[in-house]
Amino acid sequence: MTTLNEPMAEITDISESPGVQNSRMMVSYPENMTDVTNMSIHVMGVLQSTLELEKLIELFGDEMAAILPHEHLSYENKEENIKYDIGKPARHSSSYSLVLFGKNIGELTISRNSKFVDVEINKIESLISALIYPLRNALLYKQAVEKAYSDPLTGLNNRAAFEKSIEQEIDLATRHNHTLSLMMLDIDRFKQINDNYGHIVGDAVLKSFADCIVECMRSSDIVFRYGGEEFVILLRNTKIAGAQLLAERMRKNVEEMKFDYNKIKLNISVSIGLAELQEGEDRLKLVERADALLYKAKEGGRNRVEIDS
Ligand code: GH3
Ligand code: MG
Ligand code: MG
Repeated sequence: MTTLNEPMAEITDISESPGVQNSRMMVSYPENMTDVTNMSIHVMGVLQSTLELEKLIELFGDEMAAILPHEHLSYENKEENIKYDIGKPARHSSSYSLVLFGKNIGELTISRNSKFVDVEINKIESLISALIYPLRNALLYKQAVEKAYSDPLTGLNNRAAFEKSIEQEIDLATRHNHTLSLMMLDIDRFKQINDNYGHIVGDAVLKSFADCIVECMRSSDIVFRYGGEEFVILLRNTKIAGAQLLAERMRKNVEEMKFDYNKIKLNISVSIGLAELQEGEDRLKLVERADALLYKAKEGGRNRVEIDS
């Protein structure tokens, strides 16, 4: 592994795994582009055309392939939980640790079946230098987008994320003829908690509640904080009967949750409305039906689940 701060770097051949030739699009270069500096300037321009991280790595891979044929290129950023692979790993690989202003911004590995020679190594290093600033910008952009879509108190997706996701999920379910269920949850008599113990305790209850429902979910379920003490879960590929089992389990777990904050011990409960997407239905109708069922659960005495009948 080599650390690449700015242009200078060393290369180490590491792996021995058999490689498969990949079939990515090749970029053709202008004929007068003969030296490495011109190539770097050209690549820098190309990389400035996007702020999307995955697209950036893809563009970089295409530019790299035009200059240096290879089987595999990967970018990994463990801190951000990101890993992109283009092609399949091959026998000889060179890995670079990318560092900017003392901060690690990921690792880049390029591999192929034949060994890299010195002149190629120089090219790789120049190209990676062209990647560093666009990469840092794309990482900052990704973090900003994630922040804009997350709720700081619970760490869940927020309302803006819900508005974006529900359109996509309805579109996917309709196109692939899959079921989609929507669960709307509202903590019972939450105002009393604020009134009796203050907002700090109320906030801690919201966080514990969020953790509790996340524990019950499968990885394909997506949860959002819809508003104050209201939450929504989108259940992909889930018919109402399966969603009902999950809703009942959540309701029970919340009821049994032992909340303890600075010796303040509390029990809470949740009411849930559950609706399955119907043919031709849009997001407003689906949310409206789940909301009406939630209202019914409240009317029916709270701490209960109501579904389409
Ligand atoms: P119901 O059983 O009918 O749902 O009663 P409720 O008291 O839960 O519902 P209501 O809508 O009357 O009150 C919701 C309360 O949630 C009022 C509001 O102050 C509180 N709330 C909303 N967002 C937050 C928050 O971020 N933190 C805290 N601590 N309280 C919040
Ligand atoms: Mg409410
Ligand atoms: Mg409530």
